[in-house]
Amino acid sequence: MKTPDGQLSVTLNTGDQIPQLGLGVFKVDDDVCEQIVLDALEVGYRHIDTAMIYRNEAAVGRAIASSGIARDELFVTTKLWNSDQGATATPAALATSLELLGLEYVDLYLIHWPAPLRDEYVASWWALEEIHQQGLARAIGVSNFEPEHLERVLEEGSIVPAINQVELHPAFQQRKLRGFQEPLGIITEAWGPLGQGKYELSELPGLTEIAQAHGKSIQQIVLRWHLQEGVVVFPKTVRKERMIENLSVFDFELSPEEMTALAAMDADRRVGTHPMDGNW
Ligand code: NAD
Repeated sequence: MKTPDGQLSVTLNTGDQIPQLGLGVFKVDDDVCEQIVLDALEVGYRHIDTAMIYRNEAAVGRAIASSGIARDELFVTTKLWNSDQGATATPAALATSLELLGLEYVDLYLIHWPAPLRDEYVASWWALEEIHQQGLARAIGVSNFEPEHLERVLEEGSIVPAINQVELHPAFQQRKLRGFQEPLGIITEAWGPLGQGKYELSELPGLTEIAQAHGKSIQQIVLRWHLQEGVVVFPKTVRKERMIENLSVFDFELSPEEMTALAAMDADRRVGTHPMDGNW
């Protein structure tokens, strides 16, 4: 796909481009999600991150259909839920997602959690490889995978995941995991890029000053930091003015000193579930 003029993109190991900034729709109810996605598409978003478990794929699909935007100008990600893991359930789950989305293919299909107690993520990965070969997912990847889970997929699979989508924000920067996966060509996506609002970004030392220096909000500074780190982000908001704010991060640049100051904000502060515990 072609990323809209003025926005940034990252090249996946498939050769396809992913718009580096999109909209996440976690916890957006199906009945409001259609309008929210329409608003996002109207203000210039072309990348939507959903999941089967968000129960809003049908609304995302309705918004895409009524937007009139060409399919190849959009990047749509959805995810395989834990209870659908395994050789036979995985293709059936994707078929349901595609039906709900009203799409013939997704741009990216992810295993949502390794769910290690189920021990089905390798079999699910083999199913994703087949899904990719059938053209039903242009790229395949994983989410919440620790190095040990990636290692098994690399050893037992034949395709390198394009993406690992993990919790990542200034107080939790995932340096070790990224040092493992990025040299393998696995792109890092950040979920909770703004810390899910679970801590005050303004409490991070020096962030407010950097924002003032650029005439930007602290959220815009954090999103710009992700972009300059090479990370893909899709902050969630249901408010149109915040969608515009979050997308207005392509017209300035953080200096190397400012990037260093942000790197120093890492505090190993996880705000979500540890991947080993996501066995629902
Ligand atoms: P986030 O860090 O995007 O934070 C969302 C919160 O920030 C919301 O409360 C919103 O009101 C607020 N916010 C957004 N823009 C703002 C702005 N400009 N100013 C002030 N506040 C602002 O957290 P998230 O929604 O959890 O993560 C983003 C996306 O990541 C999700 O929507 C989902 O698509 C994905 N995700 C994936 C997983 C996974 O396990 N793979 C887990 C969580 C989220």
